[in-house]
Amino acid sequence: MKLRRLCFLCVLCASAVNAFSLDREAFTFTNYDLNVRVETEQQRLGVRGKITLRNDSATPQKIAVLQISSSLDWRSITAGGKPLQFISQPYTSDIDHTGALSEAIVTLPDPLPPRGNVDLEIAYEGVIVLDATRLTRIATPEAAANSTDWDQISPKFTAVRGAGYVTWYPIATESANLSEGTLLFDILARWKAREISSTMRLQVAVSSDEEADKPELLVNATTCPTAYEAQHQFVADCTYRSLGSVVPAFVIANYELVDRAAITVHFLRGHDLSAANYADAAEKLVPFIAEWFGTPRGKAQTADLADANAAPFESGPLLLTSLTSTEPKLAGLSAAHQLTHAAFLSSRPWINEGLAHFAQALYLEHQSGRQAALDYIGLHRSAFSAIGKDNDKEKDKDKDKRTSAPSSEDDTSQSLVNTNAEELYRSKAMCVWWMLRDMIGDPALKKALAAYHPEQDKEPSYMPHLIQAQTQNNLEWFFDDWVYRDRGLPDFKVASKRLVVRGKSDGVIRVEVPKLPEEIVINDGSVPESDVKNNVFKIEADAAAN
Ligand SMILES: [Zn+2]
Repeated sequence: MKLRRLCFLCVLCASAVNAFSLDREAFTFTNYDLNVRVETEQQRLGVRGKITLRNDSATPQKIAVLQISSSLDWRSITAGGKPLQFISQPYTSDIDHTGALSEAIVTLPDPLPPRGNVDLEIAYEGVIVLDATRLTRIATPEAAANSTDWDQISPKFTAVRGAGYVTWYPIATESANLSEGTLLFDILARWKAREISSTMRLQVAVSSDEEADKPELLVNATTCPTAYEAQHQFVADCTYRSLGSVVPAFVIANYELVDRAAITVHFLRGHDLSAANYADAAEKLVPFIAEWFGTPRGKAQTADLADANAAPFESGPLLLTSLTSTEPKLAGLSAAHQLTHAAFLSSRPWINEGLAHFAQALYLEHQSGRQAALDYIGLHRSAFSAIGKDNDKEKDKDKDKRTSAPSSEDDTSQSLVNTNAEELYRSKAMCVWWMLRDMIGDPALKKALAAYHPEQDKEPSYMPHLIQAQTQNNLEWFFDDWVYRDRGLPDFKVASKRLVVRGKSDGVIRVEVPKLPEEIVINDGSVPESDVKNNVFKIEADAAAN
């Protein structure tokens, strides 16, 4: 009975908080000015700084929500030097590796009108240790979980990524749950969209032990002069120009360097061979990548990860990956992707990632011929045709309602321009770029890419228009089927001499042949389709006689 009453009280307290009807996504964090002190021996992080919040909702806001990783604790939140009242509570969310956040619910001095700004001074601290709770609690095997969520501060090796991995700077989002489809990715995409023009000044200080080796401090900022040593600590003073396109991350390790014109490779002891191999592969590829995607805007940086199985992480021209392989083709494949990011920037995933994967297929074709590229595309195709089949099943349920021009919400929400699903904006986008290239040719596609300016990309149709401008062929149907909507995959099949062109619709092509062909094969693998088993049609003498 007593317990029940206690719980009833809990409910009352909780509803007192909820009574404000918290709008966690009301504010955009327009600027961060953070001083981060890292104690690798203690695995600790202490942060002091100032953040600027803008009310982007339609109503005045009296409450602001600030979230940091559940392994960190709020110390103080003030405005203009005056302490603000705040309640600190745990908030379950898979946006952080620990599966939870420390949420501060802050009462602002005055209600902030729409478009109004407020500056808050903040302080928080805590530990960042290896923690893959969000993955292990959905039954991911521990080793795989740890190699995915590898972020940690530790004496030997420190690497910490920001929003979506470790919430080491304050954010504010609705609760994300990894077991609910693409929810986490949708929430992250909303956060990044809000932060597209947000900036961060970041000072990271690492205490330096005079006896030990001097570690290297790497930060993936827009500008970040080399760390300097002052009062027994290394300090890096960095600026991020757009938090929408970069996840702020820092690495502290005893790296050795391979420094070349286009790339610097930071590697851990014993990995000399694979580091040199990677740098060589990248150097060799620079002219090829530049011809397609332009000259790299800056030097590419590759840094070694301590866990040999660690999942790679990329952020603009920085790639964190375990440098253990010495296989030249794997190095080339990875370098082609990384150099494309260094040369070409877009805030649209289907362009940014799609082109970087397209570059990998181009590299394979360049090295080993078209079939090698098609085989690689085939590997990616299996990733997203599974999604296509699920969607088709859904659509088949209400087949009767389907019209000849489907334009349901599902078609457009899973379209390349809107999707947050990796399989689509990576693998499917790569196929789309490959098909576009087959349709308009290399010179025209290169010209279209050269005409692209990320700051002018305000509409989803911007890139399609640049491509259309380079060709006489009308590509509207192609963009409509493959980019603006998701019509599922087409199925090419040979039925006499018929060619099915669009997803779920037909097209006819007449082929004049001087003598009776023996076999017709459609689609060499460059176009993704739902069923490839019916692409070959044997022409038998009997059929020819009819
Ligand atoms: Zn990429």
